Amino acid sequence: MTELTTTLIHHPYSPPEGFAAPQPGVFKASTVIFPNVAAMRNFDWKDKSAYTYGLHGTPTTYTLEERLCTLEGGLQCLLLPSGLAAIANVALSLLRSGDEVLIPDNAYGPNKVLAQGELMAWGISHRYYDPMNAQDLAAKISPQTRLVWLEAAGSVTLEFPDLCQLVRVCKERGILCALDNTWGAGLAFAPFDLLPGAPQSLGVDISVHALTKYPSGGGDVLMGSVITRDPSLHMKLKLTHMRLGSGVGANDAEAVLRALPSMALRYRSHDEATRALALWCQSRAEFAQVLHPALPDSPGHAHWRALCKQELGGAAGLFSVIFPSRYSQAQVDAFCNALKLFKLGYSWGGPMSLVVPYDLASMRSKWPAHLQQGTLVRFSIGLEAVADLQADLHQALQSALN
Ligand SMILES: *Cc1c(COP(=O)(O)O)cnc(C)c1O
Repeated sequence: MTELTTTLIHHPYSPPEGFAAPQPGVFKASTVIFPNVAAMRNFDWKDKSAYTYGLHGTPTTYTLEERLCTLEGGLQCLLLPSGLAAIANVALSLLRSGDEVLIPDNAYGPNKVLAQGELMAWGISHRYYDPMNAQDLAAKISPQTRLVWLEAAGSVTLEFPDLCQLVRVCKERGILCALDNTWGAGLAFAPFDLLPGAPQSLGVDISVHALTKYPSGGGDVLMGSVITRDPSLHMKLKLTHMRLGSGVGANDAEAVLRALPSMALRYRSHDEATRALALWCQSRAEFAQVLHPALPDSPGHAHWRALCKQELGGAAGLFSVIFPSRYSQAQVDAFCNALKLFKLGYSWGGPMSLVVPYDLASMRSKWPAHLQQGTLVRFSIGLEAVADLQADLHQALQSALN
């Protein structure tokens, strides 16, 4: 079988007759002209058999949808204006008043905020579960539970859950599970085929991806996708997508199409630099704990080993450190301010390394038992030279903490 790295480059897009360029064209439209009234009445946008209106798809967005299905091993794809919009589309499509959604306690923060700020007002309740304990998930599932969110690794603290076990808990109870697959990006593991080669396939029902991160790779596009392998589930999500009018612009779609062929290469390079820097941080006395799933003492390391490629390309470019309580918040802030190459900013997956200090206590229902007390700082590693990034960390530690 051809490797994903190759299929992301040699794709089946066919250019217009007589123009054999490999890069897909950019087609922009609101209006699409119909040949006659009968066609106007009969063309169906839902099955993609005909173009009807720019919001419902263009050759450019259809191509990107196909490319992303290839990346993640899905069959249907929706594109949305941000990763968070993709998360919201799943929730608004599948949840109704009286329903409950379960969210891992270490989920991407705005997913929790969506549940608190919007879903609750619609009569949809939510509960947080401990993603490192499948029994806790099983115990929290109630007759009202309609959707379970999964995330691997967890946001900011990067615990790696036993994803197969969490999916099994949902499947045994017939509850839909949606994975925020931004970290794995379709490269570290296959979300719809978690046990390759096993007699029975095991996979999530829905994979949501913030294309803003690695698929864009440039720090200049906001986009999200919702990928499925079930036509009726996809149709439900698609109708919500249509009713909310969540289309994406052709220029943004093209930017992602342009970046996809280099994505596996970039992911591997981010991974390599991140593991090197996480190891270096582990050797430093200034940190109480370094969190990266490939480190043997990081929470869930065994689950990461079981699911992901252990060689480079099996982990994203994120790691966090916990400064011990002997350093004040002001000292940790001074460290972040002293960094020169690492910039203070949100997001990840772009060429520039970023740093964010987090107030972890305010983000979790309780302080996770597997984490040391202290102040957490997350790094997103870009594509700069590792030696330069390490020197930057070193000088900031020296100037802020000594
Ligand atoms: C960034 C991110 C999102 C949201 O993506 P946006 O395009 O910024 O809205 C969702 N989930 C995870 C894990 C992310 O890192």
